[in-house]
Amino acid sequence: MAQHETDVVIVGAGLAGLAAATHLHRAGVPCAVLEADDDVGGRVRTDVVDGFRLDRGFQILNPAYPAVRRLVDVDALRLGRYWRAVRVADDDHVSLLGQPLDVPRALRDIAARRYLSAKDLAALAALSARVAAGPAKAIVDREDRTTLDELRHAGLSERAVRTVFRPFLSGVFLEAELSTSARFFQLVWRSFLRSAPSLPALGMGELPRQLARRLPTTAVHLDTPVEEVRPGAVRTAGGDVWRARAVLVATDGSTAARLAGTPEPRWNSGTTWYFAPPRSPLPEPVIVVDARGGPIVTTSVVSEVCPTYAPSDRALVSASALTSLPDAEVRRALGRLYRTDAAGWPLLGRYEIARGLPSMPPPHDIRRDVRLDDGLYVCGDHRDTSSLQGALASGARAARAVLREVGARV
Ligand SMILES: Cc1cc2nc3c(=O)[nH]c(=O)nc-3n(C[C@H](O)[C@H](O)[C@H](O)COP(=O)(O)OP(=O)(O)OC[C@H]3O[C@@H](n4cnc5c(N)ncnc54)[C@H](O)[C@@H]3O)c2cc1C
Repeated sequence: MAQHETDVVIVGAGLAGLAAATHLHRAGVPCAVLEADDDVGGRVRTDVVDGFRLDRGFQILNPAYPAVRRLVDVDALRLGRYWRAVRVADDDHVSLLGQPLDVPRALRDIAARRYLSAKDLAALAALSARVAAGPAKAIVDREDRTTLDELRHAGLSERAVRTVFRPFLSGVFLEAELSTSARFFQLVWRSFLRSAPSLPALGMGELPRQLARRLPTTAVHLDTPVEEVRPGAVRTAGGDVWRARAVLVATDGSTAARLAGTPEPRWNSGTTWYFAPPRSPLPEPVIVVDARGGPIVTTSVVSEVCPTYAPSDRALVSASALTSLPDAEVRRALGRLYRTDAAGWPLLGRYEIARGLPSMPPPHDIRRDVRLDDGLYVCGDHRDTSSLQGALASGARAARAVLREVGARV
């Protein structure tokens, strides 16, 4: 049992903890990051299986997120970009809907008005203009409601919501009721309007790894679960004690509740499957949604976005659902969505994630306190929004609070 001393101890090397460590390091404040797992990244990790890159749960990076622009060397990630469009599949048709300037071939299906009427298109244009204009603060300060109410209020028809928005957004929120805060929806929509959703060439896990590489090599301690936290000290499961001027709990919301007494969030969950079909079933970097509402909420040929996700001449398909399903049912659903026989597609991996996103019912407070006590701080997506942006921004906010209080004495 060893005793250690440093200026700031950060518990957890997910994006929030790494963002906080980056800010403290830039300010010249030494810190130690204690991580329970065997690598950095938390919910953002990538496994390499037979030469395929499998993100632990399908997710996408939006390079327009303000915290990403501030903290991440986006060029070094060598992003592959999705089209700003969705393929909407039903029993007898697959339509392409999206931003026509980006994806001109979407024009034909938009004009066909199978899912979006002229009134829907006008409502969507007005909603997008309102969300894109002005500062993000205007969205945060606006009265909150559910996303479903927001879409209805914007004038979108029940058909547009049922066939396009609900399938697409349930993949983003990991819930199908669209009961998530409209503030969050509008912030996400604003980012989609500004930039295409993307994947790093080496997988989503490259994002936290890039942040960790910029820290001193001795800063991150892996396989070091923390058992107990007090202002100014933590105890690890191995019995080591770390004393510090400030302790920052950067774990997921449930662990933060146990260690630091913050309210425990409710969780939205999901499952992602990865298949390796013999050839790409859709040669387009696009997200496919099911107009019939499931059971697969989103699927895409990930290797069309980033060929580096699969060995050359192979394809990688991801499929995500809100629950667990038999693999055979997933293959059947994919066969229908891609208009092919997917029964023989080899399964590469399945990730069932019970604690995916802290749920965000309205009114959602986008900036929850990060200072709990003298010398005790908390950050993580459960303090901001359940997203990469929320995790990074909360880490930055907590680091600033630590610097205000402790920096002067360091
Ligand atoms: C399936 C899925 C899809 C998603 N899709 C998107 C998306 O498309 N776009 C988007 O913006 N966001 C998405 N997200 C959300 C985003 O990934 C998370 O909001 C973000 O990564 C949370 O980061 P965090 O640092 O707050 O928490 P975490 O990533 O949970 O990090 C917490 C860290 O603390 C460590 N820890 C826990 N307990 C201890 C302990 N006792 N001692 C030491 N360390 C401990 C954990 O091991 C972990 O490394 C998705 C999430 C999931 C799961």
